Amino acid sequence: MTIELNIGRLRGFVTAFAELLEGNPPEAKVLCDGGALLQQLVAVDDWLPDTYALARPERYQQYLLHADSAERFSIVSFVWGPGQATPIHDHTVWGLVGMLRGAEYSQAYKAGADGCLRPDGAAVKLLPGMVEAVSPSVGDIHKVCNAFPDQASVSIHVYGANIGAVRRSVYAEDGSSKPFISGYSNSQLPNIWDLSSELKNT
Ligand code: FE
Repeated sequence: MTIELNIGRLRGFVTAFAELLEGNPPEAKVLCDGGALLQQLVAVDDWLPDTYALARPERYQQYLLHADSAERFSIVSFVWGPGQATPIHDHTVWGLVGMLRGAEYSQAYKAGADGCLRPDGAAVKLLPGMVEAVSPSVGDIHKVCNAFPDQASVSIHVYGANIGAVRRSVYAEDGSSKPFISGYSNSQLPNIWDLSSELKNT
């Protein structure tokens, strides 16, 4: 039996998010209302094509699912292989992280008076359906890891820019930083615009 993907769910999210950003609302509104939209998207796991949920043993994957034509936002599926983790990093723009499959830990970091980065509170464990926000105004430096040593996890991220092309930084605990541009793991995007199967059913 073929299980039909509900890619329309992603298309609806793209449309709703673009609508939310019309008129350039304040970041707090984007994080609040956009977080609610993302929560709806990750509440059901029936829309992400398998190609964008593939883990690789070398490192975690970042698959671009959609980039807004004005680069106001981008949507990325992050796929964590067993035990995989990011370095400590920043974003420089707002970001929303919604857990789709498995679980991940996000540990926030803060610079002390000596310039060293230290964990800021306990790590947050994200479970399917949960959403977390990052940004320079609410806390932008963190490290993320798969909560599972033996299975892949997938989270869906939305950022206030074409995130794969943003100049940002990775950090060591002594506070030293290195510039990085993440890029993306894929060269092709999912087709969210073929409406023919839906039109045939109406
Ligand atoms: Fe991050």
